Amino acid sequence: MTFAIHGLPVARGIAIGRAVMMGGRVDVAHYFIEARQIESEIDRLRSARDAVVDEIRRLQQTIAGMGPKEAPHELTALLDVHLMLLQDQDLIDGVKHWITDRLYNAEWALTTQLEVLARQFDEMEDEYLRERKADLEQVAERVLRTMKGVASPAVPPPRRHGSMRQQDLLLDGTVDVPLILIAHDLSPADMLHFKQSVFAGFATDVGGRNSHTAIVARSMDIPAVVGSRSASQLVRQDDWVIIDGDAGVMIVDPSPIILAEYGFKQRQAELERGRLARLRHTPAVTLDGEKIELLANIELPEDAAGALAAGAVGVGLFRSEFMFMGRNGNLPDEEEQYLAYRRAVEGMQGLPVTIRTVDVGADKPLDDSRRDAAHLNPALGLRAIRWSLADPAMFLTQLRAILRAAAHGKVNMLVPMLAHLSEIRQTRALLEFARAELDHRGVAYGPVALGAMIEIPAAALTIRTFLKHFDFLSIGTNDLTQYTLAIDRADESVAHLYDPCHPAVLQLLAGTIAESRAQGKPVSVCGEMAGDVALTRLLLGLGLRSFSMHPAQILAVKQEVLRADTARLGAWARQVVAAEEPELLLVAATPAPLPRP
Ligand code: PEP
Ligand code: MG
Repeated sequence: MTFAIHGLPVARGIAIGRAVMMGGRVDVAHYFIEARQIESEIDRLRSARDAVVDEIRRLQQTIAGMGPKEAPHELTALLDVHLMLLQDQDLIDGVKHWITDRLYNAEWALTTQLEVLARQFDEMEDEYLRERKADLEQVAERVLRTMKGVASPAVPPPRRHGSMRQQDLLLDGTVDVPLILIAHDLSPADMLHFKQSVFAGFATDVGGRNSHTAIVARSMDIPAVVGSRSASQLVRQDDWVIIDGDAGVMIVDPSPIILAEYGFKQRQAELERGRLARLRHTPAVTLDGEKIELLANIELPEDAAGALAAGAVGVGLFRSEFMFMGRNGNLPDEEEQYLAYRRAVEGMQGLPVTIRTVDVGADKPLDDSRRDAAHLNPALGLRAIRWSLADPAMFLTQLRAILRAAAHGKVNMLVPMLAHLSEIRQTRALLEFARAELDHRGVAYGPVALGAMIEIPAAALTIRTFLKHFDFLSIGTNDLTQYTLAIDRADESVAHLYDPCHPAVLQLLAGTIAESRAQGKPVSVCGEMAGDVALTRLLLGLGLRSFSMHPAQILAVKQEVLRADTARLGAWARQVVAAEEPELLLVAATPAPLPRP
């Protein structure tokens, strides 16, 4: 039966394929293994299961020596049930299937099969049998816990294009079917494992439009819906689903008519992409001759290739924190970081690369298992530069690595989440110290321009201080919106209130651009607003000349730039910023270009 699930649109386009369910346990690693690892993965699972069986047997022996008071009959019976479930053929065969045929890692395979069996239990008529679901979950939990203790292979690096094809995944004969990832939640680190992997689209129950998970999804350029609340409950493994990333809807078990309609939309979108691709080598210049800089946001050094292919004239934001995430606390050392930054710099072939110092915390935890549950408001806590300044040795390691990479090409350094003059002073002092350390070691390094992200209202309101101390500014509108409106950007329950076009946000944005221009300092926007074609004219009208966005958005924004006349946009943009309801002016026709002589 066809039904629709509504969520928030985060990455455009239509994807049609079969659902791959990712278990609701975010603390379980999810990644694809290589075909040659199948046996060792099954062995890992077998050893964990055998260890749990031994543990239960030992418990049974202890109980056998007790009287009926300390060890009631129910307890013995329960342990029997657990032993039986551990040896249940459906569980064993199912888990093997996910490992062998789909190349899931053992933990993912176990949680997926658990979900399949849990649904079967839910549908049972017999109440006693239905209640056995809880037992099944308990034994699976025990096995997962045991596996955590058992040495697990290092999480493989994210797969590159072409290293895994769908055929590799679907050895069971259902070849060449696009796969749609459905999960309760996906951390940015999870997303990174799947970056450039096989999925044609994805949907999650939680998340906001500008959460970091959504941002990585956009950078993967696959249709995605977040905040659907119930997708992981309502969709089943291998269901056919359509992800409509434009409307923020997913359609489950579509009828042939609906499939045909979406197939048509999908082809239209491909044609549009083809048309835009022709703009790749066209310089981004407005009708009135203003040159506009279109830069790329990247998460990994390897993304530089995609940035170049999309016609970016540099990297405006390299989110270095992705290199720090999902590593069980083993942070990258100076050499590893230096080599990664250098790869990005060399990958951009002489174009500038802006490396942002690490911005972990809030919805970007270092590790899933270490989500910041201890603090009530992690977005207001030890995040970004605050985290870096709290651990000077770690920060100096990163600063040295960036300085060394600057010997290989043009590098800018960008510091996230600054608000206080004391933070600015400490950052500058540490940068000097890092240079002195490299001098002392006799290691080569290059010059870097130092920039600040303007993403806290306090920074926007004291913009002159920032202009005095930095070579350039980059406006992080994602956080500027979050912190101005007091809306958690990752929380779908308040997503309807997350509005980058709120007059307060627009005023801070307009003021920052105007003051930077007045002082002749470069300013760009690197938040999601920069890649939103509906806002290109507004930003141009406010005087912005540098935009940094996902490579996938560059050509569409360039198309808007080519059609714009900044001479006509200034007065209109000021009206929009001053309006009580800016959206009303934004949806109304924007000023037409001036007639050219
Ligand atoms: C922003 O806040 O707008 C930004 C670009 O940084 P991030 O999304 O990584 O927090
Ligand atoms: Mg930010």
